[in-house]
Amino acid sequence: MSYLFNPPPVQSLAIRGKTDRFPINRLFFVCRNYHAHAVEMGKPVDKSVERPFYFTKAPQTLVDSGSTVAYPPETQNYHFEMEMVVAIGKPGFRVSHDKAHEVIYGYAAGLDMTRRDLQLVARDKGRPWEFGKSFAQSAPIGPIHTVAQVGHLSTATISLTVNEQPRQTSDIAKLIWSVAESIAYLSRYETLEPGDVIMTGTPEGVGAVVAGDVMHGHIGGLTDIVVRVAK
Ligand code: MN
Repeated sequence: MSYLFNPPPVQSLAIRGKTDRFPINRLFFVCRNYHAHAVEMGKPVDKSVERPFYFTKAPQTLVDSGSTVAYPPETQNYHFEMEMVVAIGKPGFRVSHDKAHEVIYGYAAGLDMTRRDLQLVARDKGRPWEFGKSFAQSAPIGPIHTVAQVGHLSTATISLTVNEQPRQTSDIAKLIWSVAESIAYLSRYETLEPGDVIMTGTPEGVGAVVAGDVMHGHIGGLTDIVVRVAK
């Protein structure tokens, strides 16, 4: 096999305590998954009648924790969203809620960086969220902690500071759609594959960052994520 030009490199994540890296297949994001965040976005969720929904980012949007990211073009409202990340290690189609945890390889801390102004225009016009969500360096993720290392996370503090000032604080126990529910529902529509990643949504307190800001995210039991915005 020869290609006309060099194909893009395989994106990957560090795994805590291992030299092998976790190769990335797809990046899925759960939308509106904490009540207080759904309310602050003006779109409260009624779980009795609604179903989870998702968007994706291109794998090339991934960057490691510790990176300095460029302030993205065509926005005046560049937002952080601190999220727990679930790394999928086994294939799964129509995975039942009870067996959802069997496809999980591990967990990490991540940021769903968002051009909020572009996302809201798209949302309110019924257009795709793509320009607001999937852009260069918009998916910083820290090292994966394997299930063997940390077990399954169902309650843990999730928090973010910007320049050491607290901005987001919640607990992953407040997820509207649990990790198991998010996997079970997504796997009705797509066969999950090893290397898929699911970002589970952000709690309330999202806001803007500007050039020179330092974001520091924490999830209890996992390695913190640190990302700087270039000056
Ligand atoms: Mn998000």
